Amino acid sequence: MSAAESHILPVYAPPEQIFVRGEGSWIWDEKGDKYLDCIAGIAVNAFGHAPPFLVKTLTEQAGKLWHTSNMFKVKGQEELAAKYTRDSFADVVFFTNSGTEAIEGALKTARKYHSANGQPERIDIIGFQGSFHGRSYAAVNASGNPAYVEGFGPRLPGYIQAPWGDLDALKKLVGPTTAAIILEPVQGEGGVRAATDEYLRGLRKLADDTGFLLIFDEVQSGAGRTGKMWAHEWSGVTPDIMAVAKGVGGGFPMGAFLATKEAAKGMVKGVHGTTFGGNPLAMAIGNAVYDELSKPDFLAHVNKVANQLTQSLEGLKDRHPDLVVAVTGKGLLRGLKLKIDPKPIQGKIRDQKKVLVGVAGDNVLRLAPPLNISEDEIRQAVDAIDAVLATQMAEASA
Ligand SMILES: *Cc1c(COP(=O)(O)O)cnc(C)c1O
Repeated sequence: MSAAESHILPVYAPPEQIFVRGEGSWIWDEKGDKYLDCIAGIAVNAFGHAPPFLVKTLTEQAGKLWHTSNMFKVKGQEELAAKYTRDSFADVVFFTNSGTEAIEGALKTARKYHSANGQPERIDIIGFQGSFHGRSYAAVNASGNPAYVEGFGPRLPGYIQAPWGDLDALKKLVGPTTAAIILEPVQGEGGVRAATDEYLRGLRKLADDTGFLLIFDEVQSGAGRTGKMWAHEWSGVTPDIMAVAKGVGGGFPMGAFLATKEAAKGMVKGVHGTTFGGNPLAMAIGNAVYDELSKPDFLAHVNKVANQLTQSLEGLKDRHPDLVVAVTGKGLLRGLKLKIDPKPIQGKIRDQKKVLVGVAGDNVLRLAPPLNISEDEIRQAVDAIDAVLATQMAEASA
């Protein structure tokens, strides 16, 4: 079907393949062609496609109970919130359907905290250049990316954008009306850029000194993606509020925001809600995903293949110095920063080598494979990228 016949709102420009079936790291299109999936629905399919334990969990729950709404207690919510808080900085959890809703809730929680503290003037949310927090009004204003806000009316009041990674520049923007700072410990869409531990420590200290809250957006970097359950654990710095989604549902739409009891003090009965969030289907999956990620050997595997991926990508950089500028990111959220537009390269890797990769801002080719990808599959993916970069060089010099 041509684009002209499509009745889908044309906000995306997808390639022509239509995928119909997946198994592990592999996915098949309508024609029966098989692809190695190294983007995993944008860091969502943590265990690849149709992992048997999640198929079982979902179908069992589907035969029991789908939805009651939050008018009633949902057992799976209590269970999963207990696990999330047992292992993290947080005391309380609110479940959502998506990342952007988790962000909305996190931002509302931060403003409400100051209001509950008798400082309702503290409304300013400072976000960063190159950040991505989702597509709701608050989320696009928090990110401040012009492409996401232009034409959608006036910017929401109380959103400020700071340069990435520059603590001194940030300090100048912080004042008596600052409510919170929001950042991704590893920026996803903005070019797969990891914040340094030192920078995160600087942010924590600034927050403690001046009384604003620190919000981490771990929608993409969380759920084991970097080799720890949450990426901020590498730094030892904890936030006051954290938004999660993507990998926590392993492919089922769900998210959450987590907060300390103190930071959530304004979020009392009636001030926030959701119809679908945390429903029994999502919670069955969320619990099964978290249990699997928590198994002692699981993150060890992620770190092992992540090291292999990093070394292989560094090898690509050495072999193609005219095309590759840097290897970025952390764990299994990696970027290959190119000197050229990564889009045509991504297309060739897909159409000629049958490997799916993503792109991110700043000329970055993005890899976010299933966390249970094998060493052999990593090798196949890197070989495919290698071959396409090699032909690119040959064509450029011809
Ligand atoms: C994807 C993403 C979001 C938005 O999540 P949706 O589920 O698409 O609403 C927010 N923050 C980050 C860092 C993301 O990668």
